[in-house]
Amino acid sequence: MRALVKSAAGPGLEMRDVPEPAMSLNDVRIGVERTGICGTDLHIESWDPWAARTIQTPLIVGHEFVGRVLEVGANVTDLEPGDLVSGEGHVVCGRCRHCRAGRWHLCANTVGLGVNRDGAFAEQVVLPVTNVWHHWPGVDPEVAAIFDPFGNAVHTALSFPVLGEDVLVVGAGPIGLMAAAVARHAGARYVVVSEPNPFRRELATRMGATRVVDPGKETLADVQRALGMVEGFDVVLEMSGNATAMRDALVHMAHGGGMAILGIPTDEITIDMAKVVFNQLTLRGIYGREMYETWYQMSVMLQSGLDIRPVITHRFAAGDHEAAFAAARGGDSGKVIMDWTE
Ligand code: NAD
Ligand code: ZN
Repeated sequence: MRALVKSAAGPGLEMRDVPEPAMSLNDVRIGVERTGICGTDLHIESWDPWAARTIQTPLIVGHEFVGRVLEVGANVTDLEPGDLVSGEGHVVCGRCRHCRAGRWHLCANTVGLGVNRDGAFAEQVVLPVTNVWHHWPGVDPEVAAIFDPFGNAVHTALSFPVLGEDVLVVGAGPIGLMAAAVARHAGARYVVVSEPNPFRRELATRMGATRVVDPGKETLADVQRALGMVEGFDVVLEMSGNATAMRDALVHMAHGGGMAILGIPTDEITIDMAKVVFNQLTLRGIYGREMYETWYQMSVMLQSGLDIRPVITHRFAAGDHEAAFAAARGGDSGKVIMDWTE
């Protein structure tokens, strides 16, 4: 089969012919139809220090996908060939304290699809049945391809109650954009999105932001005044990984506010901890999605009218992976999709 492979330590990816993945009793073989490019894939492609520390080659990359079941292992009874599915990219151990308690997202032994085991940028991928999400009827197949980052957005946006609250989204990358749409759908009053890139600010407006901010030109205090906000933001969704942006958000929060942090900083960040104490703030780190409550929430919000399709800005055949990666890296993009069916 065709697969996009990191063959050896160093930059680049290669489209190669590789053997089809092996199956065991509890596995599902999936014919991949569409995949989404994530920041993680860009890190692996460029071979940054994190990738050099983390990745064992050769590795098939990618974890955002939708496809159809081709074959199920002997123990799998609830899926059939032809079913439309995506995969939860965190393969948990099933044995640790949290797994045994049903808190799979807290497993400390998580193995990442396309990071620590062969991924989904291929004509086929094999996953344990416990990692397979069977899509509900009516789901848009392109939206289904990005359930993984959509899940990051939902898990972050719903970490603190947002109904009637004023929400600040820091960073309008694909995940921040989807989080803005989710916060709006979930009943926030104001959804302010801070983002230096004008293309992404424009996209944030299309996805339901009530106000966008260029952090280089306007202060959050000015925006709060213009909106008539008396206290600070009740909820901050940190989606940038940027130290200055995080510190700035922190001092513009309401007393008792919550900050859900998904953005991954490259270095340590110093924050004003006295603000956290005196203003009684809650900072919460978010990794991945909740299995499978987040997947349920995504499915029901799509059924109740949430539209995240504007986040998909570019589509390429898998063979044009270099152009697809360039579009994703360029920044004037939302989500970039590759089609494996051509
Ligand atoms: P992205 O890099 O496309 O988006 C980050 C955005 O932040 C960019 O648009 C950038 O212009 C913006 N930004 C930079 N400086 C800013 C500033 N000072 N103020 C406001 N915005 C600023 O990434 P993404 O794919 O949307 O992911 C968002 C973040 O979440 C990334 O840091 C990513 O590594 C991380 N992530 C975390 C998880 C997890 O499970 N915790 C999963 C996926 C991604
Ligand atoms: Zn575990």
